[in-house]
Amino acid sequence: MSAYKRLLFIVNPHAGVKKKDSALSDIILTFSDHYYETIVCFTREPGDAETLIREHAGEEFDRIVCMGGDGTLSEVIGGCRKYAMNIPMGYIPAGSTNDFAQSLQLPMEPAEAAERIMKGKPHKLDVGMWEERQFVYTASCGLFTRASYDTPQKVKNVLGHAAYVLEGMRELTQVRSYHMQITAGERTFEDNYLFVTICNTISLGGVMDLSRAEVNFSDGLFELLLIPMPRDLIQLTQIVNALREQRFDTPLVTFIKTERVVIKCPEKPDWSLDGEKAEGKETVEIRVVPGGISMFY
Ligand SMILES: [Mg+2]
Repeated sequence: MSAYKRLLFIVNPHAGVKKKDSALSDIILTFSDHYYETIVCFTREPGDAETLIREHAGEEFDRIVCMGGDGTLSEVIGGCRKYAMNIPMGYIPAGSTNDFAQSLQLPMEPAEAAERIMKGKPHKLDVGMWEERQFVYTASCGLFTRASYDTPQKVKNVLGHAAYVLEGMRELTQVRSYHMQITAGERTFEDNYLFVTICNTISLGGVMDLSRAEVNFSDGLFELLLIPMPRDLIQLTQIVNALREQRFDTPLVTFIKTERVVIKCPEKPDWSLDGEKAEGKETVEIRVVPGGISMFY
């Protein structure tokens, strides 16, 4: 029997800024130093990561690791859950927008991230379900969200984080809101909303930056943030200030923790799940799967 354990390594070669050429060999060498035989698979287009997991689902692996942006991670986690690959997973961030990697405080240096996966202990991580689709760190709707799936990968790579912000600003000239009825636990909110997000992250594309004490990645609860359409200039200023100062305890902005949300909106706005588009529906149910995945962070 081989002394080596087996590791499935899914790499999105198009994600983000190109890391130095030796990054891949450094990573695989790190795995090898820890007695892992690495099976490397490259994705070519969206959806490939999930397909690759499906194809390897029947095989024995001791670790699964993905390298790419938050979108790749989301797909790999979704695939692992869908095809019951219950093995600890690691993430080597390489995308332009690594909100979630930053939230988890993962090393941005690839070899360092690989070392952490080899030496660390896996932790439970909550996963979200938007209807039957999985998401890892955010399901968002309204202003600020179109940007993440409309911005072509090339532009994302060049502009990086700024792409989100710029797109957001461009949209301010064509701001629209949606009338929604939102039920979270015992509470129901009804208003015209500019932006709605249910998330399990500290940082969210320049919209939200929470303190570490406010977010627990495995408490079975996600944060729900609702930003209503201001009715006048005074309200607009209050909302802008709340966002700028990251104070969400104002009467205008709703910020609560929840395990399940039902959102009714006849206009069926599209959603963004970790940056990928989800076609809108009149009623959307979002819930948390506690400890849905085991991950090194
Ligand atoms: Mg939580």
